[in-house]
Amino acid sequence: MTKHVSAAASLTANKNVQDKLSRLGINNALDLILHLPIRYEDETHLFPINDAPLGQQIQVEGVIIHSEVVVRPRRQLVCQVEDNSGVLVMRFLNFYGSQIKSYAVGKRVRLLGEIRDGFFGTEMVHPKCRIVQPGEPLESAMTPVYPTTAGLTQKVLSKLIGQSLKVLQKEENLTETLPDKIINQYQLDSLEESVMLLHHPPPDVSIEALQARTHPAWQRIKFDELLAQQLSMRLHYQQRRSHSAPTLIKKRQLSEALLTQFSFKLTKAQQKVSAEINHDLSLPHPMQRLLQGDVGSGKTIVAALAALQAMENGYQVAMMAPTEILAEQHFQKLSAWFEPLSITVVWLSGKQKKKERNAALAAIESGEAMLAVGTHALFQAHVLFQQLGLAIIDEQHRFGVHQRLALRMKGMQSDHVPHQLMMSATPIPRTLSMSYFADLDVSIIDELPPGRTSIVTKLIADNRRDEIIQRVEQACQQGKQVYWVCPLIEESETLQLQTAIDTYENISQTFPDLKVGLVHGRLPTQEKSAMMAQFKQGEIQLLVATTVIEVGVDVPNASLMVIENAERMGLSQLHQLRGRVGRGTDASVCVLMYQRPLSEIARKRLKIIYKHTDGFEIARQDLHLRGPGEFLGARQSGMPMLRFADLEQDIELLTNAQMAADEMLQHFPESAQQHIQRWLGEKTEYLRV
Ligand code: ADP
Ligand code: MG
Repeated sequence: MTKHVSAAASLTANKNVQDKLSRLGINNALDLILHLPIRYEDETHLFPINDAPLGQQIQVEGVIIHSEVVVRPRRQLVCQVEDNSGVLVMRFLNFYGSQIKSYAVGKRVRLLGEIRDGFFGTEMVHPKCRIVQPGEPLESAMTPVYPTTAGLTQKVLSKLIGQSLKVLQKEENLTETLPDKIINQYQLDSLEESVMLLHHPPPDVSIEALQARTHPAWQRIKFDELLAQQLSMRLHYQQRRSHSAPTLIKKRQLSEALLTQFSFKLTKAQQKVSAEINHDLSLPHPMQRLLQGDVGSGKTIVAALAALQAMENGYQVAMMAPTEILAEQHFQKLSAWFEPLSITVVWLSGKQKKKERNAALAAIESGEAMLAVGTHALFQAHVLFQQLGLAIIDEQHRFGVHQRLALRMKGMQSDHVPHQLMMSATPIPRTLSMSYFADLDVSIIDELPPGRTSIVTKLIADNRRDEIIQRVEQACQQGKQVYWVCPLIEESETLQLQTAIDTYENISQTFPDLKVGLVHGRLPTQEKSAMMAQFKQGEIQLLVATTVIEVGVDVPNASLMVIENAERMGLSQLHQLRGRVGRGTDASVCVLMYQRPLSEIARKRLKIIYKHTDGFEIARQDLHLRGPGEFLGARQSGMPMLRFADLEQDIELLTNAQMAADEMLQHFPESAQQHIQRWLGEKTEYLRV
């Protein structure tokens, strides 16, 4: 057993404080010790007033020589503080009566704050101010400032942390979970010393290195955190891999028959990922592969080839899509491809008529249907497969862990676990696939099929609507088709529906000579698919749509897209929407309309989508802008986020942690377990999916 730092002992008798602590994720002494400062205040030095650097937090000491409340232009407390070198003004815009009394002439004060040239000359606004006696000693360590929550003061928090550290020093050791070999190889500082230093940095430590978290003590903490993440991801990967899965040998008859149907050849990238999948499927344990490829890179064919490999071996395939529209498109496409191969494909939807649904279910259960396509309704109870060999999940990032779990359970009916192929058109930046997706194997389609026309993106403020309307008219006169995407109303589905209808009516009036259609999320499935079919056949020229068309919809003749209030949409959403055009031979345009004034962040986002068409680059910048929490979305739920490491800054540490994790799992499995336990504790459950 590892010696834990009084892990079970209660931290405080005060229930109220305990609640606040657990809100911060602190439940035992070890959590407290690993609750590290967000920044530091340096109260170990005094600067002479006239010699103090501007624009950085510093400490000065002097005597109050003048103090008054002035109204200039607002009521404020203004004091003059003098030391041997000069005078500065300290100014409080909010203050209590008691402060007027304490900051009286003659009092000696220590001020911590930023000096600047202000309204009243050299001044400090709202400094941290303490009355001191002459010769009072300075702090011997820098003062840590901890992340906290309302009602829990720094003082209480640091006292509790101080107590835990004392126990740590006196009674027990923060035992090293890493083998010496790893410590030496990556030149890591001792964990215990690092923790001590971060809580009580001595005055000679570079405050910049502490703030920027580049100090070796921080590096050690971040390495440990990243290592724990790598270890748990890899371990769960191995655990799932230890199940058995059907061995699906590629026999080629069906796949070759499919490929002869196409007028084109697979791209090199498609061939490469197909080979990776082909190899995985032929192994006796379940594939857990994520297929990434930008919008339009041709993932569907790759998925179809994987499906055929399962079928050639007598196994069924399930394909799940996040929306009805997409599921139905897949159904149509795959039925058309597979019918000539005498393969029965069925489709399941939440809104299906009972009779139709029962027939589909029966065909799945008897094994007559080799492929079942649907939304996640497909994977709810009552769907029994005769022999499921492969589950394909399109746009996997939109599914939460729970749905993935449900899907896995489906396959458990037999002793075999089905292979899993997940597909995503939201490219995942490298740092994220190295960390949060380290439990999956990743295949990347990194080229688009030849002959694609590039999409020109235009940013236009919505007061220039007239110009856009002209463009739309011109395009339709030339026989092209147009998408018009309504503004996104996130707060309310009812409002979203109303907006879609309003936009439709408005557009129909604007273009009385055009055939205009409308699709939105609330439309009954049959009407939705009828509408999409009409658009595909060119019977509708202008399709007003909500973001339901964001994924997968494939109408090559549509070459102009107008998106209203683009500033409200996320970058990956805009990228996906934009990917609906540029699928045919015509040069395509995507007009992003925005409403002024734009916030700073909205301006940055629109600039990114305007400048870049490569989904990976967009994703990278999006991650930079939003941080991993928001970027990960559904996957994040239940997934412990990194507290200390920063994926962008710490890419080198991440690479090292990845190598160290492999080595530990191979040669030091016990240390690996201890390390995971220390850093993640119970938080590892979610990964069992
Ligand atoms: P996505 O990766 O976005 O799911 P799709 O699989 O829908 O992309 O493919 C987009 C379009 O490209 C489809 O019309 C498909 O038939 C076509 N396509 C796929 N692979 C190729 C290829 N190798 N050469 C030419 N066109 C292709
Ligand atoms: Mg697709």
